Amino acid sequence: MSKTSPIIMWFRQDLRLDDNPALIAAAESGKPVVAVFVFDEASEGIRKLGGAMRWWLHHSLKSLTKDLGALGVDLILRRGPGAEVIFDLAKEVGAENVVWNRRYGDAEQTVDATIKGDFEGEAKSYGGIIMHEPINVRTGTGNPYKVYTPFWKKFCEMGLPRDAHPAPQEIAGFGGDVASDNLDEWDLLPTKPDWSDGWLKVWTPGESAAQTRARAFMSDDLDVYDSARDLPGDDRTSRLSPHLRWGEISPYRLWQMAQDGRLSAGSKARETWVKELVWREFSYHLLQEWPDLANENFNTKYDSFPWRSDDEQLRAWQKGQTGYPIVDAGMRQLWQTGWMHNRVRMIVGSFLVKHLLLDWRHGEDWFWDTLVDGDPASNSAQWQWVAGTGADAAPFFRIFNPIMQAEKFDKDGVYIKKWVPELAKLPAKYLPSPWEAPLTVLRDAGVKLGDTYPRPIVDHKEARERALAALQEMREAVDG
Ligand SMILES: Cc1cc2nc3c(=O)[nH]c(=O)nc-3n(C[C@H](O)[C@H](O)[C@H](O)COP(=O)(O)OP(=O)(O)OC[C@H]3O[C@@H](n4cnc5c(N)ncnc54)[C@H](O)[C@@H]3O)c2cc1C
Repeated sequence: MSKTSPIIMWFRQDLRLDDNPALIAAAESGKPVVAVFVFDEASEGIRKLGGAMRWWLHHSLKSLTKDLGALGVDLILRRGPGAEVIFDLAKEVGAENVVWNRRYGDAEQTVDATIKGDFEGEAKSYGGIIMHEPINVRTGTGNPYKVYTPFWKKFCEMGLPRDAHPAPQEIAGFGGDVASDNLDEWDLLPTKPDWSDGWLKVWTPGESAAQTRARAFMSDDLDVYDSARDLPGDDRTSRLSPHLRWGEISPYRLWQMAQDGRLSAGSKARETWVKELVWREFSYHLLQEWPDLANENFNTKYDSFPWRSDDEQLRAWQKGQTGYPIVDAGMRQLWQTGWMHNRVRMIVGSFLVKHLLLDWRHGEDWFWDTLVDGDPASNSAQWQWVAGTGADAAPFFRIFNPIMQAEKFDKDGVYIKKWVPELAKLPAKYLPSPWEAPLTVLRDAGVKLGDTYPRPIVDHKEARERALAALQEMREAVDG
């Protein structure tokens, strides 16, 4: 292989310079680096990005272009089926090497395997999106883990396979002219309507913002994570999920920042937080082993579950018009900002699946379209967790009571008042269930149920009984 032939660095779910093993390998090869991002909606089986993720990707690519530009490297943008684009680009620039960090979706892995099989030069992959390769984390009998706690224990036993690497200081750029698409022409941003108005005040996509966010979280909130993480009104979780989704910051880097020598010294909050990073990891390991996690029940018993079909109620859930304020607050936070607090994701998920008896795949789909952090592994794994159909899932019969959840986790109603402003003048004690407020209280607060705010679309008690009856029906069908 020629020393001067360029090497292609293919960015995918790793839009960063720090701790990017493939980029380091490219830089250290001494060859001129051709950096490329391929917008691939054309390869077979690749799932199209949801609207909120497209918005994030646009801004993240702008940021990466700037960061690479500062090192003298252009980011080439191409659109089309990944393997074809890479073959064409390699031919154009005369590259004999291509490097990337691994992905774990089935369709993505098929693309990568095609390149590894058919590329005439050398195609090499690295691990950078998750911490351990799934093949290396096995039970005593050599099987993949299906239960989180032993997975976590194994993870702790194994430790991190490597330290986080600093970003390369220098990268040899490729001098030649290489055609690149114009990012604006990819139409990743919404236009008609532009629902992203104000989003750049809430979010700053890109590596440098990810690092700033991580540092701020570690210094201000990490040590109270244990007690604050379930309070959506406090909003003290890291909000790093969209940055992690696009790999703007590496889980190795975060693990090391959070650990800071203190995890072993017994900081419970730090341990709780890194355990969440390991939930992300667990989801990726599941995805590797069960590639159809977004479509198929992990627990196939649920294939005969008697889901209902009700477009009107699905729409009410999507739009935050169920009449249950904590559910509506979450769904509106999601619609307006592309993100929802984890506690509320569990509440709205349980409500869709158990109170409305609508298939979890409707929820997974809606989240995929509206979340900035819509993740190929975590979204489906977590929806299956909520629905009771997944690996190590919450049992179906554990049905969240949306009134009690609001009373417990949004005691003063800060979260509900923020996202359901038409109820903001109600005394906090009535916010979880406004229909229980006396008429005079409702009137004084300017609330007219069924007019300014919906009445509950289902009765909690009846919905709970119906869900349990559906579970029983499925059990009888399965057990004969
Ligand atoms: C129905 C449902 C769907 C979800 N869909 C997604 C999704 O598409 N993408 C996504 O990143 N997370 C998803 N989650 C998990 C979790 O809600 C978010 O990761 C979390 O709310 C992100 O906020 P944060 O960054 O402040 O998290 P923190 O509490 O600060 O946690 C740190 C990081 O750990 C990871 N993490 C935390 N909780 C989980 C979890 N339960 N499962 C997997 N990883 C976790 C995330 O990467 C997160 O950024 C979902 C949860 C539910 C219940």
